[in-house]
Amino acid sequence: MKYPGYQPTIGIEVHAVMKTKTKLFCGCPVVNPVHATPNTAICPVCTGIPGAMPVLNRKAVEQALRVSLALGCEINQTSIFARKSYFYPDLPKGYQISQYELPIAEHGVVKVNTSQGVKEIGITRAHIEEDTGKLQHRIIDGESVSLVDLNRSSAPLLEIVTEPDIHSVEEARAYAEMLIKILRYTGVNDGQLELGMLRIEPNVSLKKIGQDKLGDRTEVKNLNSVRSLERAITYELNRQYQILINGGKVKQQTVGWDEANQVTVPQRSKEDAEDYRYFPEPDLPPLVIDDVWLNKAIAELPELPFNKEQRFKNKFDIPDNIISWLVAEKERANFFEQTLASKTSLAPSMVASWISNDLNALLKNTKKSLSSVSAQSFANLLLLLSNKQIDRKNAKQILADYVEKDKSIETALQQENKKTDLSEKELQTIIQTILSNHPNEVEKFKEGNQATFNWFFGQIMQATKGKSNAQTIRKVLQAELNIN
Ligand code: ADP
Ligand code: MG
Ligand code: ZN
Repeated sequence: MKYPGYQPTIGIEVHAVMKTKTKLFCGCPVVNPVHATPNTAICPVCTGIPGAMPVLNRKAVEQALRVSLALGCEINQTSIFARKSYFYPDLPKGYQISQYELPIAEHGVVKVNTSQGVKEIGITRAHIEEDTGKLQHRIIDGESVSLVDLNRSSAPLLEIVTEPDIHSVEEARAYAEMLIKILRYTGVNDGQLELGMLRIEPNVSLKKIGQDKLGDRTEVKNLNSVRSLERAITYELNRQYQILINGGKVKQQTVGWDEANQVTVPQRSKEDAEDYRYFPEPDLPPLVIDDVWLNKAIAELPELPFNKEQRFKNKFDIPDNIISWLVAEKERANFFEQTLASKTSLAPSMVASWISNDLNALLKNTKKSLSSVSAQSFANLLLLLSNKQIDRKNAKQILADYVEKDKSIETALQQENKKTDLSEKELQTIIQTILSNHPNEVEKFKEGNQATFNWFFGQIMQATKGKSNAQTIRKVLQAELNIN
């Protein structure tokens, strides 16, 4: 045990920017935070000009609903927006509109795979809220200044909060990875932590074993990868453990993660909910999701990553880590299944290995996506390889030409075939050998048993492995059996 006498306790809050075209309460576009010119996607509503009226974006609700269902939550068919008041230079309104007492979803559960087996993590709630603007700290003409960019202001966020059910760094990572998969599957967020499109904040504490009460916690901000999530939690657990075993008390506070130095740094003491003076937003009616809307969302839910992963594990003999990689992207999992469906004799492990190695490397190098690859053609290629009509080197080359130069796989395969096509003379020799090896069947045929013709035909097809076409085989076979 890593922290004798204590149990690590972690609850994770996530803010996901939802992939809508426009912001949560106005028609301004949701723009790429890195590339857009500051303050170009703003209007009176999202900059908080007094008197401007918010109108709720229905697409944002649809997306929030989809994720909430995927998280196994109960949906509150009536939910309420509130004002969360505080001052910060990136918040000109002086308040953020956020669901508070009655969020869109509560009481969910996310299943994840860990080395200890399947673990269930409770979801406390999911709620819709608007994003704030962003400050940029710069040095201009030798002076440090802070600039305000309101492009992000009022972008639609979904906040997802877990129960303090996570008890190790491994479980925290498994949860973060599964949540990212769920967000991708539902088409709500691409999981770009590095761009700030997904913000993960773990609350970390150590509970004294034998006590019911949870320990004092810190909340870590500024994580821009799952890697730093793991490192920040490890750092905090170690730091808190040293304090506790030395008889000290952990200060409840918000800390930032300093990526360069791999340490947490105190930011501010935690506010209490009372400090925000929440009250219902007077400019927005309650959000009502009627049965028709709810049922439609339930019906449209895709197969979820955890279920898909289980199904793949039961069905295919493929290493777990490859299955997890295949399932990480819905398109990738679909491509894998389409390839197998297209040529059912292909070995799943071979298909998985070609997707994860050669094809994946080619796509990365050319910055292309899987949607540019035909599962049918890919299957044709792998089938010839597994029938040994082409070798690995050929297959790699044909695939590379296809991805890099858009050369047709089928044309390349035809050319390969021609190279290996049997001459009629060679075919004749093969057929003669087969006939002389089966004198009884030849006899039967001559006695009028037509079925033996087809049997011979099958034997020859197998022996020639596609290096000759059916028409020629038929012709030569007829000649050898003296049929005119
Ligand atoms: P706040 O809004 O102040 O951050 P919440 O009650 O919303 O507080 O809790 C935030 C997160 O902290 C939740 O994921 C919750 O499970 C987790 N949490 C609460 N108490 C603890 C604790 N003692 N140790 C670790 N995590 C905790
Ligand atoms: Mg918090
Ligand atoms: Zn706007």
